[in-house]
This record gives sequence, structure tokens and C-alpha cells, in this order.
Amino acid sequence: MTRVLINGSKGRMGQSLLTCAARMPDIQVIAGVDVGDELVAAIKDCDVVIDFSFHSVTPKVARLCAEKHKALVVGTTGHSETDKATIREASGFVPMVWASNFSTGVNTLFWLTRKAAEILGPSFDLEVIEMHHRLKKDAPSGTATTLLEILGEARKVQLDQALRHGRHGITGERTSSEIGVHAIRGGDVVGDHTVIFATNGERVELTHKASSRDTFANGALRAAQWIVGKKPGIYDMQDVLGLK
Ligand code: NAD
Repeated sequence: MTRVLINGSKGRMGQSLLTCAARMPDIQVIAGVDVGDELVAAIKDCDVVIDFSFHSVTPKVARLCAEKHKALVVGTTGHSETDKATIREASGFVPMVWASNFSTGVNTLFWLTRKAAEILGPSFDLEVIEMHHRLKKDAPSGTATTLLEILGEARKVQLDQALRHGRHGITGERTSSEIGVHAIRGGDVVGDHTVIFATNGERVELTHKASSRDTFANGALRAAQWIVGKKPGIYDMQDVLGLK
């Protein structure tokens, strides 16, 4: 039995996690924590914390997990460099799964994107498009950011120099070294991601569309079961799924 604490339990993902966990006999949710609840008191009875809250909250949660020796699953996205540094520091003391996306389909998309970039080579222009519901707070999505990191590694380019966030005005011709990224917001879209590889005469498009948050919640709960008892450090969903 894995004893889980859900941080951000009243949010969209928090609610989905509670629903999915209730269907899993090997998972016991010992507490759901949201704004105004006391995390320090609740954490003592769990094996692992699952955090789907807000970027500035995760560093505090990670520090507390390190102090109390609790494993951590980080689903929250949009972290600043300072947030990330604190989370990394905590991973020296406890094991954590930190993934921008917990769905099996998106992790397959990550794998396919790397392969396609390697096979198609530098003559193909790279663009990433993501669409999410109107209430999403960060852009581009964490998943799009992971896709861009994969493309940047495959192309051996510095992402901060290569990225073009949308285009506006007299942009001039597209350079072959840039990687475009476009964040669309509207309605109740759970999460769509497309990677485009375009060259003269042909293009390849790899698309994933999530239609239910349960796909992320089930993945995060699977990650929570997997991470308990592992050595301190940062793992991702590719580790959990055995894709490495
Ligand atoms: P949401 O806004 O619906 O929920 C966030 C919840 O966190 C809210 O209930 C909010 O009150 C709570 N919260 C804020 N501050 C808190 C604090 N200090 N302590 C405890 N709870 C606090 O957002 P959401 O759609 O559920 O998404 C949450 C996060 O998860 C976002 O960063 C989103 O991008 C990310 N996300 C990741 C994946 C993935 O697979 N990794 C999938 C979907 C969403």
C-alpha cells in the first residue's frame, strides 16, 4: 500500500487524482492539501507527496519533503530558474519523479520527436504548437518546453537563442536555426501538442491530444508507487515507464 498526500487537491488535477486514486486498491490518499491547509502536519503519515499546485509552491514542498524524508512527484509546471534550483537541491536528499507530462502517450511523443529529429536532420524546419484551456496560467506549456528541449538537444543549439515565441510584424524570412513555438488558449482543451518538421516538398507532424486529465493523474499515481524506496535523485516518466 502506498500512502499518498496530494498537494493542490482542490484544483483540476487534484480532483482527478482523488478520483483515480479511489479506483486503485494499492493507493491510499492520507490527505489532500490546498490553500489554507497545514502541509507540515499532514505530511508525517505519507510515503510520497504528489504536487500539482503552482510553480512558486513546489520549492517549499520539495524542501519539506527533504526535511521529512518523503518521496515527491512533481507535476506542477512553469517553474522559474530559482524554483528549479531549490527543487534540484532537495533531490540530493529524497527521490523525486519530476515530469512535465505523466501520460504514456506524451512520453511516446517525446521518444518519437527525438527519433524524428535525428532521422530528418537539419534541412527540416522545427515548430511546436500547443493548445490548452483558457484557465491555464503558464505558457508555453511544460510539455511544449520538454519537446523544445528535445529538439534543441537533437539540433545541438542553445534554446534561449534558437526559440521564436510566436511571430508578429515584419519578422523577415525564417532562419534554419530557429525553433518556433506557439501557445494557443481557449475553451476547455485539456492539452494538445504538435511538433512540425517541414522542408521543401514535404512535412511530418506528430500530434498528441489529451481528452481527459485522468491520463495525467493515473501516470502520476503510477509514478508515486514507483518512486517510493528509490535512491535520492531526479527521475522522469521515461524512467517510470522503462523507456530509457
Ligand atoms: P488548478 O489551478 O486547477 O489547481 C491548482 C491548485 O493548487 C488550486 O486548487 C490551488 O488553490 C492550489 N494551490 C495554490 N497554492 C497552493 C499552496 N500554497 N498549497 C496548496 N495548494 C495550493 O491547476 P491544474 O490545472 O490542476 O494544474 C496544476 C499544475 O499542474 C499546473 O502547473 C499545470 O500546468 C500542471 N499540470 C501538469 C501536468 C503533468 O502531466 N505534469 C498535467 C496537467 C497539469
